[in-house]
Amino acid sequence: MSVAAARRALARTTRPLVCYAVENLPKKKGGDALYAQLRTAVADGNATKQDSLVIPAADARSWKVPAGHLWRIICTEGPQVADMNCWSAHNPAERFYTSKTRQLHSTHLTTGDRLWSNMPYLRPLATIVEDTISYGFDEDGAGVHDVIGSRCDPYTNLLLSGREANTCCHSNLTRQAFRDGLTEFDVHDVLNVFMCTGFTKDTHQYFTKPSPVAPGDYLEFLAETDLLVSASTCPQGDVSTACGSVDSPTQYPLGVEIWRPRDGMLEAAGWSPSETSSYSGRHGLHDSSMSTAEERRMTL
Ligand SMILES: [Zn+2]
Repeated sequence: MSVAAARRALARTTRPLVCYAVENLPKKKGGDALYAQLRTAVADGNATKQDSLVIPAADARSWKVPAGHLWRIICTEGPQVADMNCWSAHNPAERFYTSKTRQLHSTHLTTGDRLWSNMPYLRPLATIVEDTISYGFDEDGAGVHDVIGSRCDPYTNLLLSGREANTCCHSNLTRQAFRDGLTEFDVHDVLNVFMCTGFTKDTHQYFTKPSPVAPGDYLEFLAETDLLVSASTCPQGDVSTACGSVDSPTQYPLGVEIWRPRDGMLEAAGWSPSETSSYSGRHGLHDSSMSTAEERRMTL
């Protein structure tokens, strides 16, 4: 057997190795008991509603969430998916990093998973405290709330269909970004809230299924630092048709609520806002002009 053939055989016969040991990440501040409490904080009367809003069908809205507050995206009228972005409220250069989140956790997120920010910050922006769907993975390998799709956009739509579309999630998020003083370049890959997706077993292509979400379902997060969050109600509704298709499923609005946990509840458990990476930022260089992690944090 040639060296190359031996390498191919080695790869084919070796069991997959989970590349990132998620159990080695720093523990959640406040511990699992706090996060279990937060999961039912609203139902238990341990949180006060601060604000609520509606994301109209085929549009986007944003909201601010102070560190230590909860927010939930709620299915109120019918099956509808949302494409969600989030940024540090003080520095839009720090934003949700789907690919590292995917590597650390999974293709699809659920209760207990954290939403990580991009480098050089790399810290938890938020943690999912409740996922009422808890779909797991079905026989086709599909799950819910993926970080594998990007977002529907007018550029790809034009390539696929030859038609201009202006209510794609990317455009909805871009219009909201302008309203927030941001630009199209601040819009980034999303958490596909309520969306049911996977990769086909034979060709490994991205697929969707009708969202299993039903009125009353919600996905709830704890803000691990001060955040700006934005979400688009996808013009594809429950995404039961292909992207760029002329058939458009019914589009519904979604609800958003922001809740403040009981005073002292988080602090008593030892929780505090997340901190940006303590990596030196030198990347093997020895130039004293390179900024250190501490200097970077001071610019936030
Ligand atoms: Zn969309």
